[in-house]
Amino acid sequence: MKLIFATNNQHKVAELQSLLAHQLKIITLKQAGIDIDIPEPHQTIKENAAEKALTIYRLTKTSCFGEDTGLEVRALNNEPGVKSARYAGEEKSFQKNIDKLLTNLLHFENRQAQFRTVICLVLDDKTHFFEGICKGKIIEEQRGAKGFGYDSVFVPEGSEKTFAEMDITEKNIFSHRAKAVMGLVAFLNNIKQNTQY
Ligand code: IMP
Repeated sequence: MKLIFATNNQHKVAELQSLLAHQLKIITLKQAGIDIDIPEPHQTIKENAAEKALTIYRLTKTSCFGEDTGLEVRALNNEPGVKSARYAGEEKSFQKNIDKLLTNLLHFENRQAQFRTVICLVLDDKTHFFEGICKGKIIEEQRGAKGFGYDSVFVPEGSEKTFAEMDITEKNIFSHRAKAVMGLVAFLNNIKQNTQY
């Protein structure tokens, strides 16, 4: 089965392509000939995931999915959460977001955090949602050069490495996005048994 992935983030595409190689063909927005900045106007991760998927579905009338992710930090009342991309401003700078996060956490001992991903699948005019959570902690200084976003300051439970010190295959063992997409794959496998998809 083929699905358009409603994102312009090539890191996210690479993570899911590595995970789904034998199960699902992901079509990128570029491959679908779409060049738009998809809005994220809502107050919840779930609504933003739906916004991304439905924006592309309305344009293409093709089955697709979108995802939105937030970093929820316990000591900061689960911020930056839905504001993770724009934590330090509209320019969406990964480095400025990390700098602001580390500054805001300076005086806290509790460094617990989690990534939350929600995937919205649009299939035959209906939406379906899948969530993945990865618990871990925010370290005091950046480590590693792989990945993107907050990867260099996040260490998942069960590892000593930051996400930015892992290759994609290793990150997928722990990651929020991998867990959410496994829910999507299980759902698609289930309906595949009864339909021609
Ligand atoms: P969005 O889902 O692309 O809106 O991401 C929100 C923010 O979280 C952006 O700053 C991303 O770079 C960051 N982010 C999303 N997923 C990850 C991840 O897997 N690791 C690190 N940062 C992430």
